[in-house]
Amino acid sequence: MRATFPHMGKLDMVMSDLFDRTGIGYIVPPRTTTKTLQLGVRYAPEFACLPLKVTIGNFIEALEAGADTLLMAGGVGPCRFGYYAQIQECVIKEAGYDFDMIILEPPGAGYRLFINTLKKLAPGKSILEIWQIIKIGFGKARVLDELEKYALKYRAYEVKRGDTTKAYKRALEIMRPAITADEIAQAREEAFLVLEAVEKDMQRPCLKMGIIGEFYVLLEPFVNFDIEEYLGNMGVSLERSVYLTDWIGPSKENPIMGISDKEVAQAAKPYLNHFVGGEGLPSVGHTVIYAKEGFDGVLHLFPFTCMPDIIAKSILPQISRDFDLPTLSLVIDEQTGKAGVITRLEAFIDLLANKRKQKEFGKSPVLVG
Ligand code: SF4
Repeated sequence: MRATFPHMGKLDMVMSDLFDRTGIGYIVPPRTTTKTLQLGVRYAPEFACLPLKVTIGNFIEALEAGADTLLMAGGVGPCRFGYYAQIQECVIKEAGYDFDMIILEPPGAGYRLFINTLKKLAPGKSILEIWQIIKIGFGKARVLDELEKYALKYRAYEVKRGDTTKAYKRALEIMRPAITADEIAQAREEAFLVLEAVEKDMQRPCLKMGIIGEFYVLLEPFVNFDIEEYLGNMGVSLERSVYLTDWIGPSKENPIMGISDKEVAQAAKPYLNHFVGGEGLPSVGHTVIYAKEGFDGVLHLFPFTCMPDIIAKSILPQISRDFDLPTLSLVIDEQTGKAGVITRLEAFIDLLANKRKQKEFGKSPVLVG
């Protein structure tokens, strides 16, 4: 078996680590590029949401590179994600490729099905061994999220532009070879030392922005034009509403993000009081939380035709009025260009900076472009 999977942020690092532990062969798809997107757009239904198109492109590129088994997460609920794997299989087979498809449905869709799928991915391993692999691999993935969260928050304060990005990349490389729980703990310590060693000016009055929206667009830098690094370099300290291990983990406590699903739903309640699929409800809840925590603004990213976040978008103006919190919704599809996104972000940052200036009677935040 030469399994493969789509890209989504650091998912390739997490999956490679898991496959190395199970011992099955795998191929990491080439990094997502415009060519990947064009492949997806060529074969996917035109009305499909952007993540489906990009992931079809990833799969085709991996098959061209020698993969023979596609691994995709399944899902339940009102959003289209639950049917992604089935559509990907149809579309890519119709395009003439031959492969097996393994769909990893969440345990909630049937425990036995979940276990049987895991056994296919770890042939010859007992349930206990598979559990150990997942537990240790997942613990390592959590550390990757912790490092990312740190970089998002502190990049804005670095004294020399680019140091945090360099240190973050170095920190990931420190984590990469860690196998055992002890090695992971030791690598975590070392990786944080590297990030903490970046010289910072914590007195700099940086803007604080929350980033909310659809999980794939938030997590995949190719699709969001690496917006987080851009904002950090502009002197904006960020908090994001989704992290990979919070999203795939069974716990509803979201230890990386630090706010449980229950608290988010509670915050959203006056505006939206039921699940609408995807990140629709969390997008609303997090905006309220960021408003209450005194953030300067909220950036909302989602793909064109994403039903759950279209619902959130229709609610954000009311939250914005109630809390005097500027929000900016950006819809992303294959036609979206980086220059247009950056122009709107610059205008949004100017607005937030002026608002802060007014509040602080004449003090202007330092924005380093
Ligand atoms: S959350 Fe939105 S973009 Fe993501 S899969 Fe669901 S409908 Fe598509």
